[in-house]
Amino acid sequence: MTARPAGAAAMNAVSAPPPSQTPNLGAATNGAWQRHLAAAVRDPDTLIALLELPEEYRAPARRAAGRFQLVVPRGFIARMERGNPRDPLLLQVLPLAEEEIEDPAFVADPVGDLAAQHVPGLLEKYEGRALLIAAGVCAVNCRYCFRREFPYDAAPRGLASWRPALARIAEDPSIREAILSGGDPLALTDHALARLVGALAEIPHLKRLRIHSRLPVVIPERVTAELLAMLTATRLVPYLVIHANHPAEIDDACAAALLRLAAAGVTLMNQSVLLRGVNDDAGVLAALCERLLDARVLPYYLHQLDPVRGGSHFHVPIERGRAIVAALAARLPGYAVPRYVAEIPGAPYKEPLR
Ligand SMILES: *Cc1c(COP(=O)(O)O)cnc(C)c1O
Ligand code: SF4
Repeated sequence: MTARPAGAAAMNAVSAPPPSQTPNLGAATNGAWQRHLAAAVRDPDTLIALLELPEEYRAPARRAAGRFQLVVPRGFIARMERGNPRDPLLLQVLPLAEEEIEDPAFVADPVGDLAAQHVPGLLEKYEGRALLIAAGVCAVNCRYCFRREFPYDAAPRGLASWRPALARIAEDPSIREAILSGGDPLALTDHALARLVGALAEIPHLKRLRIHSRLPVVIPERVTAELLAMLTATRLVPYLVIHANHPAEIDDACAAALLRLAAAGVTLMNQSVLLRGVNDDAGVLAALCERLLDARVLPYYLHQLDPVRGGSHFHVPIERGRAIVAALAARLPGYAVPRYVAEIPGAPYKEPLR
């Protein structure tokens, strides 16, 4: 493998390179979703122009994007309101001056990922489950992401480099579930994904495959017939946990993609992060949960924000979070109320807050 500049696309992932480079999309990888991914907006000037945002956003956006790249697909931008700097979808992706706030409680690795990585790319925190950093890129860069500074360049790329992680799972019969996370595992080509899933399916004690992905939300075209076939061809029972924070994210194309996944037999769940100015409101979250249910997705977790460096302006106090979730519980069926949790480094499970 040749050396890559920091932040360049992972070998097996499809991602638009910096404008100076040509896309490395490979032979059989020219589907619609890959074109959407390659065409994602990656510079603040374009985003500001498309959404007709005030000029004062430009300089801070350029500075903050230098620390964590801006990435947002055009189809997701189309769900935002023009001229509104407080749009709840925009706030998730627009680099702001507030990211430069220095707060010692907000750190590079807020959930102890590095301490849980005993072999490259494999995070082991909880009994019975092992999490693979399957891709180093995402289709959208969420400004509050707890893995903003994760050293993805050191994670495995390609089946050969996954051998130590696969061997460790194979050696431990207590592991019954493999979780593909990242980055976004669905940023991998179907071919790369199928090879990794195939290798996991060969481990007899693994029963379940869980994929954590935001791609079905931000680029619903990712949910192709080939992906459905791959997810359901394996011996492993497939779960897909999507990530949406606001009802406006689930447009009709997204809902249709989710219904295709459900019809194929994939169990769907959603996780959200409680974010100030985005969804810290019971009405907004209730509408999100209803929208998810309509698409056959069960609300799973509502995460307290992980204290990641650059994300402090999204913080919602736990007391306020509890009041919001109590209001949610009063208006939704019990199965539609997400569990409000925080991840405490070293804890044996995600800590219930309510
Ligand atoms: C969150 C997480 C999981 C999954 O936890 P669940 O409570 O089962 O959803 C597994 N492994 C790691 C490392 C995690 O961070
Ligand atoms: S999609 Fe998930 S992993 Fe990727 S930037 Fe957003 S929160 Fe982080």
